[in-house]
Amino acid sequence: MKALTRREFVKLLGASGALTTVGLAGCQTAPVPGPSTAVPAPSRAAPRVVVIGGGFGGATCAKYLRLYDPTLSVTLVEQNAKYLTCPGSNWVFGGMRTLDDLTQTYSALRDKHGVNVVTDRVVSVDAGMRTVNLASGKTVAYDRLVMSPGIDFRWGDIEGYDEAATQAMPHAWKAGPQTALLLKQLQAMPDGGTFIMSAPPMPFRCPPGPPERASMIAHYFKTQKPKSKILILDSKDNFSKQALFTQAWDQLYPNMIEWIPATGGGKVVRVDARSLTVHTASGSSHKGNVVNIIPAQRAPQLAVDTGLTNASGWCPVNQLTFESTQVPNIHVIGDASIAGALPKSGHTANNIAKMTAAAIVSLFRGVPPPTPSHVNTCYSLVAPNYGISIAGVYRLGEDGQLQGVKGAGGLSPTDASLQQRSQEAGYAQGWHKSIVADSFG
Ligand SMILES: Cc1cc2nc3c(=O)[nH]c(=O)nc-3n(C[C@H](O)[C@H](O)[C@H](O)COP(=O)(O)OP(=O)(O)OC[C@H]3O[C@@H](n4cnc5c(N)ncnc54)[C@H](O)[C@@H]3O)c2cc1C
Repeated sequence: MKALTRREFVKLLGASGALTTVGLAGCQTAPVPGPSTAVPAPSRAAPRVVVIGGGFGGATCAKYLRLYDPTLSVTLVEQNAKYLTCPGSNWVFGGMRTLDDLTQTYSALRDKHGVNVVTDRVVSVDAGMRTVNLASGKTVAYDRLVMSPGIDFRWGDIEGYDEAATQAMPHAWKAGPQTALLLKQLQAMPDGGTFIMSAPPMPFRCPPGPPERASMIAHYFKTQKPKSKILILDSKDNFSKQALFTQAWDQLYPNMIEWIPATGGGKVVRVDARSLTVHTASGSSHKGNVVNIIPAQRAPQLAVDTGLTNASGWCPVNQLTFESTQVPNIHVIGDASIAGALPKSGHTANNIAKMTAAAIVSLFRGVPPPTPSHVNTCYSLVAPNYGISIAGVYRLGEDGQLQGVKGAGGLSPTDASLQQRSQEAGYAQGWHKSIVADSFG
């Protein structure tokens, strides 16, 4: 066997030291797997940040905390070993992506960035003790906690729509088995059938998501089941990028998509999952072959139980640092937070995550956090080669609220050429590739 040089021996010592230290810093009751390659080792006295939720918000924040300060001990607790991006999940219905294409792992966070990734479910947070309790029985201590748990549904807002009903009428608003179920139902639907979608009230994750989904399903129908119809029953009177979507629908899918606003009788108030029938506030009933109910949303129960939500069901934060205004040392980012005029999107979650990472590092160092500008861009595909977008720039106003900067951003023009629409479809796919690389790579 080849003898180790002094240099190799010291390197090996460093690597095993990193493994033990991260394990101890992360979990109090049992060591957890540390990084598998030699990453800068946080010292025992390093401040500990725990991040809950490995979606666009949490994964990005954990990564950037380590990039901004490699001495920090960062533990990411995510209940699933893999993450499926909601962005791109509507494209599955148009046949442009598979769920496998959308699947991300946490190996780069763990191996490249030295994040201590723990696959477990957080059952509670003790904000007084600054500990996080996991379903496995372990406890993780923090100096600062970042929560990015995504959304939950307001079960009960639509009578008859509960978790059991999602097996007959999927929401597919969290990418995964629900997306696969809706796809299977659409594939089994006869030509000439009706697809019904119930779109939720604001605020909800991805405002242009419902019309993009309708577009992708229309593309599938046009190419595979051309006699079929789409009925969108909306709880609102308008929707994101409405003029652009309706213009494209008239052009690409004439007479296929009907949209009924809330005041026109579109608000679904009751469902019968067995007969695939929906009932609206105006008293009308509609029976579909496939029914997609996207329920009203709120922050997850963990945020409620931790005392982070207000009467709106979402989490108020200081919009500079994203620290909760209700519970100190806990930052809430992503969809669960109230972020002024910023929409609930993956792009926003990624942006806020980086700014929050910078703020946390500043707070540990005792220096003022930077004052950021935020950007959100949201692309939608109406057909595989037809894309539209909306973009916005946001800054903190004097009232402490993030506000849209007038004159910055905007919508795709309504008079764009088909070549420009095709270019935007390319940008949409490029956006997905780069946001995934930035958040998980
Ligand atoms: C159909 C659809 C299309 C979309 N398209 C776009 C798009 O094109 N562009 C865009 O910018 N946005 C898009 N979005 C929105 C985007 O997906 C969300 O805004 C984004 O995922 C929010 O990130 P997040 O970190 O807040 O939550 P999530 O990404 O949902 O991540 C939350 C994570 O927390 C984990 N978690 C929750 N509770 C616990 C717990 N107790 N313990 C451990 N882990 C937990 C979950 O497993 C999950 O992985 C789309 C959404 C949908 C539904």
